[in-house]
Amino acid sequence: MKRRPLFWKVYPYYFLVIFISLLLVALYGAREMKTLYISQLTSTLEARARVAERLLKPLLNTNETARLDRECKEIAKVSNTRITVVDVKGLVLGDSHEDPLSMESHGTRPEIVLAYGGEVGVKTRYSNTRQANMMYVAIPVKQDNEIIAVVRVAVPVSAVENILTSFYRNIAIGGAIIVVLAALISMAVLKRLTDPLRELRNGAGRFAAGDLATRLPVPTTEEIADLSESMNKMAEQLAVRIKTIAQQRNEREAILSSMSEGIVALDADEKIVLLNRVVAGFLDLDIAESRGKTFYEVIRIPSVLEFVERAMHSSDIAEMEIKMPGSGASVKYFQARAAALKDSFGEKVGVVVVFNDITRLKKLESIRRDFVANVSHELRTPITAITGSVETLLDGAMDNSDDRRRFLDMIARHSDRLNNLIKDLLSLAQIESETEQIGAGLTRGRVSNVIASSVMACQEKSRLHQVDVSYSCDPNLEANINRGQLEQAITNLIDNAIKYSNQGSTVNVEVTSPVDEIVISVQDKGVGIAEEHLPRLFERFYRVDEARSRDAGGTGLGLAIVKHVAVTHKGRVSVDSLPGKGSSFRIHLPRTQ
Ligand code: ADP
Repeated sequence: MKRRPLFWKVYPYYFLVIFISLLLVALYGAREMKTLYISQLTSTLEARARVAERLLKPLLNTNETARLDRECKEIAKVSNTRITVVDVKGLVLGDSHEDPLSMESHGTRPEIVLAYGGEVGVKTRYSNTRQANMMYVAIPVKQDNEIIAVVRVAVPVSAVENILTSFYRNIAIGGAIIVVLAALISMAVLKRLTDPLRELRNGAGRFAAGDLATRLPVPTTEEIADLSESMNKMAEQLAVRIKTIAQQRNEREAILSSMSEGIVALDADEKIVLLNRVVAGFLDLDIAESRGKTFYEVIRIPSVLEFVERAMHSSDIAEMEIKMPGSGASVKYFQARAAALKDSFGEKVGVVVVFNDITRLKKLESIRRDFVANVSHELRTPITAITGSVETLLDGAMDNSDDRRRFLDMIARHSDRLNNLIKDLLSLAQIESETEQIGAGLTRGRVSNVIASSVMACQEKSRLHQVDVSYSCDPNLEANINRGQLEQAITNLIDNAIKYSNQGSTVNVEVTSPVDEIVISVQDKGVGIAEEHLPRLFERFYRVDEARSRDAGGTGLGLAIVKHVAVTHKGRVSVDSLPGKGSSFRIHLPRTQ
């Protein structure tokens, strides 16, 4: 249905009622007025007839018809009325406006017939004589109770009509003025009623648009005032509720976004109703775009879809380890756990899936596995060599002094290796356990003292290999250090530099302190390392040339220890090397006061 303002719905009817009432009153008034006027006129005419009767009656007895006629004309002049006198036979004796002799018999005129009967004859009809509508009043003239003539007075109806028309016009003008006034007044009254309603409507519109801070004016009309107050109260309560909901939502968002787990909730149609940033990151989704879409539309990973599908149709908690597509280091692993989402009646309305990134755990597991395999492998070689030598000796080689020496030498060498390996493994384990927390156990100490101790520790080796080791360091330079660990790390670097240098070569240990670091570098002019090995050099058991490392008594753990020590000092390691030219290993320590 077409909507119209209240004003235009009420006002036309209002106006119509006023108009029709006024019209009816005017019509009734006009009719009453006409009746009153006619009866008044009839009485006046009758009175005039009676006056004329008085004046003319004496002349009737004298048979002076000419005088009678003249008298009629005289009376008519002053009374503005036509006067006719008719005898009992219908003969016109006198007439104010015509010559009686030329007039036909008036005995059959209805008003005169009535007067003959002794009544007052009143008639409005067409006058043949005057050729106009006339109103007649005829009275009998009696003498000794006998009717001797009839006096008739008449006025033209047009005169009556003129008066009535002007009367009607006045009523119409008055009525029109009243209608206009009533229309204006009712318009003002209606506006007084609809204005507060309009304000109410505008206010409700503002509430609906979310502006709950404004308040509606309270008018003086009781019902509208009540409504205004109720709406104001409603807006107030709504604002409080919305605030609470927003607060709850913010809390929920904060909890969801601060969680390290990824969370996604799906409804019964598998549409995403909620997902947090973490899961968006895991599954490479856009939060805003994904909300409201089905899981199938946004996820293309078969294992995830399969898991969600299974969870949707199961009432138990579902769990699964999911390997995400990718290769090498980019492979990711998730532990997914799904539980049913239930409404207040306990009906299942969807599922919540929690994703846990277990990639690091998986990698640690694999590192540990590799480490155990590597250690076993490293241990097996010397143990096999030792047991083999012992068996050979027992089998008779012991009797030959040359063989005996050779095998005992071998046992001694492999025992050394075993010893070195276990020493390095223990060092690594000790560094790890000592410094579970990065930066723990550091004390302020002079770097030059540590360098001097390390160089001293390698003195014997440098003499044996005929490699000259020199160092330079600001004696006042201090840093937060774990002296034992740092000494071992630098010793490992100097030891390597000697091991992988040729006779007569030189090794230089240098300490520099650019802006925010202290850099300890150990440079040699030895065999150098090809570039492809550099990224993996600090891994445990990684060796460039396995045979040379073994011959030199290396364990493959030296650089791993160096890296570990640097990390526990909140620092890092770096290396530059050119095959055939030499290498430069550096430990970078943070410069703290
Ligand atoms: P290793 O006990 O075998 O020396 P490290 O962890 O100390 O084990 O070193 C790992 C590998 O890095 C060595 O096997 C060696 O190939 C290479 N390397 C280490 N230092 C040097 C160096 N100064 N010059 C050339 N190669 C080096």
